[in-house]
Amino acid sequence: MRMCSIGSGSSGNCVFAGASSANLLIDVGLSCKRTVQGLNTLGLDISEIDAILLTHEHSDHIAGLRVISKKYGIPIYATRGTMEGVMLTPGADEIDRSLFRVVEPDTEFMINDVRAVPVRIDHDTREPVAFRIEEYGKKAAVITDLGTWSEYTVDAMSGLNTIFVEANHDLRMLECGRYPYILKKRIMSEKGHLSNDDSGAFLSRLLNDDIQAVMLAHLSKENNLPEIAYESVRSGITLSDTKYEGDDFPISVCPRDTLSRIVEW
Ligand SMILES: [Zn+2]
Ligand SMILES: [Zn+2]
Repeated sequence: MRMCSIGSGSSGNCVFAGASSANLLIDVGLSCKRTVQGLNTLGLDISEIDAILLTHEHSDHIAGLRVISKKYGIPIYATRGTMEGVMLTPGADEIDRSLFRVVEPDTEFMINDVRAVPVRIDHDTREPVAFRIEEYGKKAAVITDLGTWSEYTVDAMSGLNTIFVEANHDLRMLECGRYPYILKKRIMSEKGHLSNDDSGAFLSRLLNDDIQAVMLAHLSKENNLPEIAYESVRSGITLSDTKYEGDDFPISVCPRDTLSRIVEW
């Protein structure tokens, strides 16, 4: 399996997952052009993508969908709520509805030999999910845009090798920053985004001996910095009850506008 973030953050999210039997894009929040360029850098043509998996309908996850689906007709896997949310966005009438494959939270579906599971998350959209994917014993997940996590999330995401997880904001930066109060409240709410501290605590529950990579994703431009996210998560793991230390695993930050490191295992 080979994975790489093509762009990450409130200006657009897209993760490439290349399995042996299928190539997937998890969210298409970048323009078609940037998505194509990112894939080209990875040595792929967008025509080689077998499926788009959508986590939810916020524009930073679907901004490229209209053009990509018109040009390339790639099947779109999404929950019913997300599909309905997408179809209410401006310009969505140009998206061919027959490209949608409706998926149910907690119910696995197959894309060739890739087993994918949409896992329910709390976020302020209709039916948001994170995705767990697995092929021939190799397991990964993309878990962003969630206000909170629970034992349910920990169970659903156990035994992963590669984890893309949100580390959205530093709580102090958000509290002292210039965002209006209502927006700060939304971000901090149970339907908002994971702070660096939340992310460290959540990760410390997901770690296992087979982790290959931890990729911190969806960093806020205003309320976080890559060094702060990295240090908070790393020390959060070390200070938690887990037997692991923050230095036991490679932790990387997904850049906003460029490709992340490529995780291959
Ligand atoms: Zn987002
Ligand atoms: Zn969102």
